[in-house]
Amino acid sequence: MSNANLQFNLTAVTATSKSRSTLFSSSGDHLNRFCTCLPKPVLRPQRRRLGIRATEGWQPPQERNKLQVAALNNVLHYPSKLKIAVVGFGNFGQFLAKAFVRQGHTVLAHSRTDYSSEAHSIGASFFSDPHDLCEQHPDVILLCTSIISTEPVLRSLPIQRLKRNTLFVDVLSVKEFPKNIFLQLLPPHFDILCTHPMFGPESGKDSWNGLPFVFDKVRIGNEGWRAEKFLDIFSTEGCRMVEMKCSEHDRHAAGSQFITHTMGRVLEKLQLETTPINTKGYETLLNLVENTASDSFDLYYGLFMYNKNAMEQLERLDLAFEALKNELFGHLHDKLRKQLFLMKREGSMERPPKLSKLPPNKGKGYALPPPSPPSNSEILQPQNH
Ligand code: NAP
Repeated sequence: MSNANLQFNLTAVTATSKSRSTLFSSSGDHLNRFCTCLPKPVLRPQRRRLGIRATEGWQPPQERNKLQVAALNNVLHYPSKLKIAVVGFGNFGQFLAKAFVRQGHTVLAHSRTDYSSEAHSIGASFFSDPHDLCEQHPDVILLCTSIISTEPVLRSLPIQRLKRNTLFVDVLSVKEFPKNIFLQLLPPHFDILCTHPMFGPESGKDSWNGLPFVFDKVRIGNEGWRAEKFLDIFSTEGCRMVEMKCSEHDRHAAGSQFITHTMGRVLEKLQLETTPINTKGYETLLNLVENTASDSFDLYYGLFMYNKNAMEQLERLDLAFEALKNELFGHLHDKLRKQLFLMKREGSMERPPKLSKLPPNKGKGYALPPPSPPSNSEILQPQNH
């Protein structure tokens, strides 16, 4: 059972620093030793309130005591708030930083662009120089850079200035790629936690309650409290915490997130507009375009380039579209088909627009022109039977 599955009520712990050091002078001390070493007036109320409730059924007393000691260790020995360095202070980095500050954590920011005023308005400090950032000795280095810039950004950090056991976390939308880079570039004394909040500034603007947060504890040493406290930020916001291997994440994400972004971007090229008679389904499509179009193309490209499963999904999408067209055309009525072919012979049907000649689409690639009104010869006349 993980610590996350326990509900603690340790708020009443007010032990003096002397009693704290007595308690944890030797590792694995029993909780009772802690209690007996406390001054009498403090002991009784604390005994009653140091309750731990396991949500996964009965635990043998020995096991329970170990968990109690670990929990007390967390509460008494380590700071309750983290110092988090957000590296890559763009759209998503700032979005996360706001929640960290709101929860009372100290946020340090670093990015290639100068975001001093944005950081200031959020309540964070901005460091243009990564050396200055690392000399602040953050507990956590949180990589929020674009997927494609992750490796050069990580290489540019003077990690020798950091404390041992500093926790490295990423929030990239692909997971095997950053995991491999971390394992390749970081010395073994740094902890590694790969995460993916499955929401963004649009979908999570009102609340994170119930939204999935995927994480993989890739390498956590004996200072696991940082990782636990970092994860606590998201569980406190109400996220649905999903522990999953990076490879499994990428498999699921290619079939869900990459497809979603691809469909959103295809629809964006159609320049859909709201109508006076929008159906619920159409509203969903408009929302999808809004959600995906606000993300950078770098992000979308990263989903494709750095998830080995994405290419297969793109091919499947192509095949599915072809199959659907074939199904449709296969159902055309014979007469209708004849009429279509007749019109084609007469040269009355225009050639479909070429993708390479599409007009610019809000400065992001190209969009299809709106469908032109049908000419008279294109309107099919009803047939009398
Ligand atoms: P993004 O376009 O993926 O990344 C923008 C960030 O990358 C900015 O901080 C930018 O720094 C930095 N960057 C880009 N190229 C760089 C380079 N060559 N050198 C140094 N820094 C560079 O957009 P994003 O939405 O902010 O996403 C950030 C990360 O969060 C991505 O890895 C993404 O997969 C992940 N994520 C995003 C969402 C979302 O909904 N947006 C959700 C979950 C996870 P400057 O601004 O200083 O140029």
